[in-house]
Amino acid sequence: MVQDYLEASMPTVAIIGAGPVGALAAIYFAQSNYAVHLYELRSDPRLPENQLKNFSKSINLALSDRGIEGLKGADKEFARKIMSDVIPMHGRMIHDGKGKQESQLYDIHGRHINAVDRGWLNEELLTKAESFPNVHVHFKHKLLRCDWDSNTYHFRNTATNEEVSIKADLLVGADGAHSVVRNQMMRRIPISFSQHYIDSTWCELTIPPVFPTFSASLSTSLQTQTPPAPNFALNPNRLHIWPRQTFMLIALPNTDRSFTCTLFMPQAMFDALTTPAELLTFFEKEFPDAVGYIGKDRLVHEFFRNPKEPLVSIKASTHVLPGRAVILGDAAHAMVPFYGQGMNAGFEDVRILHEHLRANPGDIPTALAAYDKERVKDAHAICDLALHNYEEMRAGVNSRAYLLRKKTEEW
Ligand code: FAD
Repeated sequence: MVQDYLEASMPTVAIIGAGPVGALAAIYFAQSNYAVHLYELRSDPRLPENQLKNFSKSINLALSDRGIEGLKGADKEFARKIMSDVIPMHGRMIHDGKGKQESQLYDIHGRHINAVDRGWLNEELLTKAESFPNVHVHFKHKLLRCDWDSNTYHFRNTATNEEVSIKADLLVGADGAHSVVRNQMMRRIPISFSQHYIDSTWCELTIPPVFPTFSASLSTSLQTQTPPAPNFALNPNRLHIWPRQTFMLIALPNTDRSFTCTLFMPQAMFDALTTPAELLTFFEKEFPDAVGYIGKDRLVHEFFRNPKEPLVSIKASTHVLPGRAVILGDAAHAMVPFYGQGMNAGFEDVRILHEHLRANPGDIPTALAAYDKERVKDAHAICDLALHNYEEMRAGVNSRAYLLRKKTEEW
């Protein structure tokens, strides 16, 4: 059966993907008086049974001005709420091969990026979207294909295994790097497309909070009757980097006072570490201070348990199927994470798309064409900057003093 939302009194948008970009898009469209149908192949991440699952890709990420402007454009009060639960990172902290740390501020005026819990942010966006009566969220619905002639979109309801079809005035593909919407658009119009996997794989590790020593904790709890608060093991207002030329470790703070580390290395280096002894020897040589912060047992456990994921950079020559559909976020421009801008750029997509929709009321085709003209070249540029920043983070951030010291050692 085809659900014909086109008969509704307001224009209808079907958004595919309830990741951060799709959920933010739902809020914007709701405020512009669209009937919004948001489809997500997974189940609701807020359900208790999903709380321990890694619903998304990484545990935390950097939210920057570009993304914050996107949030503010949806709702200033909501943006303030999000910003009250982030940790500002005012600069990088470079860890050299002996564990010495060097702080490099991002900006003399104090401008900074912010560490945010990705799962929490996604859930807040979904809850905000659902607070609008004109937003309908359909979990466990996987987009299968698009019939562009009749504006009909076909889904598998994975809870019932039924096929469900809908009609909508506009289709928004926020369905991530392996976008079905993008693939379906490419069957209809010529789209130049590139997909480039870099020779780096990532794996997440944890630096736990530090609890006060027994004597300090005993005296504190005797005085206050409350358990002593844990501390961060490292300065929480820095993005920590262990740059090692061809590979690197980074760490971002979490509000529970832990850090999430991400190890980026060529796959061959991961493959070479097959036993706990090999792993510890490698870490003690390359990241000696990190071994202490993470702890040997945790390092071994997490390294061998956690997935090792590839990194892809995607460009498409158009993000629009004229008059009918648009791809946003990773669906349009997945990028390597080294510029910390993938989600931020996706939020910017949503804000700019709505500038064009507001400038062209009732004229979706003109708004989409103007959006595409402005946005595609910017998306390509930010993908290139992200690739460039991989060099910068794993090698360029090494100060002259550090490089000189290394050279002296080598001599
Ligand atoms: P996604 O988050 O991929 O969401 C897409 C959604 O669509 C998913 O929920 C998926 O289940 C759903 N979906 C897919 N196919 C279908 C279908 N057929 N039908 C229905 N639903 C479907 N970005 C930053 O801005 N700052 C950072 O610091 C940062 N750090 C990163 C670190 C790492 C290690 C990685 C890998 C990425 C990082 N990023 C960062 C990038 C960021 O994660 C992505 O850009 C962001 O998640 C993109 O959001 P999205 O909503 O476009 O796509």
